Amino acid sequence: MPDRPPTPPKREFSWSAVLKKLVFWVLLAAVTLVFLHLSSAGQEKALEVTYTAFDQQLAQGNVSEVTVEEGKRLTGRFKQPVRVKDKESTRFYTDLPFQNDPNDLERLRAANVIIRGSNSKGSITLILIQALPYVLLFGISMLIFRQMQAGGAKAFSFGKSKAKLLSGDTPKVTFADVAGADEAKAELQEIIEFLRDPQRFTRLGGRLPKGVLLVGPPGTGKTLLARAVAGEAGRPFFSMSGSDFVEMFVGVGASRVRDLFEQGKAHAPCIIFIDEIDAVGRHRGAGLGGGHDEREQTLNQLLVEMDGFDSSKGVIIMAATNRPEVLDAALLRAGRFDRQVVVDRPDVRGRAAILQVHARHVRLAPEVSLQVIAARTPGFAGADLANIVNEAALLAARKGKDAVGQADLEEAIDRVVAGLERKSRVLSETERDIVAHHEMGHALVAFNVAHADPVHKITIIPRGVAALGMTYQLPTEDRFLLTRSELEDRIAVLLGGRVAEELVYGEVSTGAHNDLERATEMARLMVMQYGMSEQLGPMTFGGGPQAMFLRGSGLPQEREYSEESARRIDGETRSIIDRI
Ligand code: ADP
Ligand code: MG
Ligand code: ZN
Repeated sequence: MPDRPPTPPKREFSWSAVLKKLVFWVLLAAVTLVFLHLSSAGQEKALEVTYTAFDQQLAQGNVSEVTVEEGKRLTGRFKQPVRVKDKESTRFYTDLPFQNDPNDLERLRAANVIIRGSNSKGSITLILIQALPYVLLFGISMLIFRQMQAGGAKAFSFGKSKAKLLSGDTPKVTFADVAGADEAKAELQEIIEFLRDPQRFTRLGGRLPKGVLLVGPPGTGKTLLARAVAGEAGRPFFSMSGSDFVEMFVGVGASRVRDLFEQGKAHAPCIIFIDEIDAVGRHRGAGLGGGHDEREQTLNQLLVEMDGFDSSKGVIIMAATNRPEVLDAALLRAGRFDRQVVVDRPDVRGRAAILQVHARHVRLAPEVSLQVIAARTPGFAGADLANIVNEAALLAARKGKDAVGQADLEEAIDRVVAGLERKSRVLSETERDIVAHHEMGHALVAFNVAHADPVHKITIIPRGVAALGMTYQLPTEDRFLLTRSELEDRIAVLLGGRVAEELVYGEVSTGAHNDLERATEMARLMVMQYGMSEQLGPMTFGGGPQAMFLRGSGLPQEREYSEESARRIDGETRSIIDRI
């Protein structure tokens, strides 16, 4: 099967080469022209004759025709060759002593001479200047033609898709490499079977989904899954990123889409994968930057292409995005990306499985428990976990160990969560004392309140930009709901550090800044979003996720509640924190 188009020989494009060729062509054309001119004139050289001589010849009736050039000069032919000095010719030219002398005309008429008028000087330079644009055009088009023939066509291939073809001999990704995402894998199983044997499904007249949209947060393995589908089915895989379609020139994106689909059709059954489709698929006429013609054109082309072929041929379009809410509705309707597969962040079991997959190529010490690591990393995506395993392997290697231990994995988490260890930031003895007591405060409160997660580790090693110490709590399970008392206990733990400082030193330091921020945020959410305040009751204030998004963009946020409510929200937020 022709899975691979013949790879054309690579040809680098350079402007100096083009310039050289251009100069060559222009010179060639100029030489040709000069030669032509000379040869035509060379048949018989025109004689310069005096006006008197011309007058005599005219009187003798020896002039057959004349051309009057700009009323100043006469060129023409004699009937019989005339000798001047040692040259003989039937062609002549002469300068007119009087411009536009009407007498001349009369006499020429009387002598039955053919008269022509001309405004051009007919000199070589003039011919060259007039011919130059044509010569240039000819040269450039010749160049383009030759470049295209050579197959390189780099500079003139804006419209070609940059789709990468992964098939056959590229290392295969299979479902074994994707851990966790079981539901997504089950959903995609059908697609794989279809790609393996398209006839089996269309036999009864059923129509398969044209498009599958993978939706999920970054790093959860969407790209990986798409490649695994192609790998499982053993079919070609054309992948392109949404941003590849967006270029400087209008119309390029659209033609790339066309090209991508053409390639796909030629290799059916296969998968066309458009990664990060939100770059082109954002819904039209929206966006903060106003309309964007190029992107709109590209999107339209994509819609047209998706309508234009039927999936029974065996081309499946997959796309991935982490922002499905910005996609144009036309993309999501039935007959386009009508199937959405959610790829979410993994749960504890999924995380353990992902760690397992990535630990395959790493030598682990026997004491390592990936379960514990999985439990310590709620909210981590597959990419983060892969990163942790890799960091741990690097750390162990740097220490000269011959296997990766549990401590290396733990340190890798710290590093991923809080940033690099700041060895250079040395704290003074008193500061270390304060930080230690502060962290101890967090830990003690966590230990004593009813609903806090157990403390896993306390450190006073400075990390990242601001953290001087940290108390890690190990959640016993992934949480999707939090009760009111759990939220209050969390606030209490956050405030524990500050309280400890107060109790031990009688005053507070700046170290609790981040704790306070988080505690305030949590209390405010309780009042404004979760309806957990007695005074304000079960009502929400302010927008939800949309407002969160706008907050980041620096746009003024609309407040949908009164000044009065705002004051009461602040009051309630305060009272929650005070109470605890
Ligand atoms: P996305 O496209 O969703 O942003 P990727 O597919 O690019 O994420 O994932 C990045 C990397 O994270 C992958 O190359 C893989 O190493 C790792 N990864 C993510 N999810 C998983 C998973 N479920 N199983 C194994 N590895 C994963
Ligand atoms: Mg991706
Ligand atoms: Zn703290």
